[in-house]
Amino acid sequence: MKTWKILSPKVLTEEERPDNITADTQAKVKVTQVLFTGTELSAYLGHPKPKYPVVPGRYAVGVVGETGAGCSVEKNERVYFRDFTPCGSCPACLRGDSDDCAEPKTAGVNMDGYMRDFVVSEESNLSPLPPSVSDDEALFIGIVSLGEAVIDRLNVSKGMHVAVLGAGEIGNILSQLLIYHQAVPILIDSDEERLAVAAQCGIYYTVKADETMEENIARITGGRMAAGSVYSSFCGLAPDLPFGITAAGGIVVYTGYSFPEISAQLKAALDKHLTITSVANDRTGDAAAINLLVNKAVNLAPFQLQKRPAAQLADIFKEEAAKAEAGKRMQCCIVNML
Ligand SMILES: [Zn+2]
Repeated sequence: MKTWKILSPKVLTEEERPDNITADTQAKVKVTQVLFTGTELSAYLGHPKPKYPVVPGRYAVGVVGETGAGCSVEKNERVYFRDFTPCGSCPACLRGDSDDCAEPKTAGVNMDGYMRDFVVSEESNLSPLPPSVSDDEALFIGIVSLGEAVIDRLNVSKGMHVAVLGAGEIGNILSQLLIYHQAVPILIDSDEERLAVAAQCGIYYTVKADETMEENIARITGGRMAAGSVYSSFCGLAPDLPFGITAAGGIVVYTGYSFPEISAQLKAALDKHLTITSVANDRTGDAAAINLLVNKAVNLAPFQLQKRPAAQLADIFKEEAAKAEAGKRMQCCIVNML
């Protein structure tokens, strides 16, 4: 079966390797689509120091081809691959709460990802997709789950103003989920195009990160400022920007697939007694995220992600790497693996 592999920074290869069902609890799945995100780009660029070789591809969907005798998934069923595998040995795993695993392995980071034509997987790693969730939507299950974990951490209440810094896919989806939970997101970015997409997604307060930003947030919040702020990693905004727009005693959450080297001037945060925390590999679980998609809690159509064939993978990596090196932000796309 065909597998794409990153051997060292900027060296992508394709290889054939045999992969067959070896247990009754396994299924062989044809990968149909993979989401290309910052996780794939980071693995390719070599930060933060991946353990090579890496098979990239964190978020993917497929169709079951063959099943072991003990599987309940059926042939031709559409499935989402779990992007996390619990370690199986931490206290949370041992008490059966694998969603709270302390050291989960992440697909495409420290375990094989899904940029392959077929994947032989334990059935427990597959989430069957209801008909009302399209393949394109299902690729965002992991990000919806991350957004829900951020919302848990914020302890969101009805009408709470939350400033979200960075209008990429994580900030956008998080803002839509905040609306679903009856909070009031204020989405901030320096890029007007991203803010326009957010507005099409139904996010009503979008604010440009410029000299009028604090004033605008004061106006929206009736002078109280945001009770909580969320900063998405790699969004290009100053990491201490949340300190000025969060109300005294508020919470600031840093989130993303991973974090770059960050330094920030802490005095403003300390003077205001802010709580600073992070949510990166925390999850609320795929089942809850799928349920949110069934309930149309997020509108992903305005993203208008480009779909590109797997044959162009080498070009996609090269183009996004060149953008990153020029200081530009990356663009997610859907890789069609058929
Ligand atoms: Zn564990």
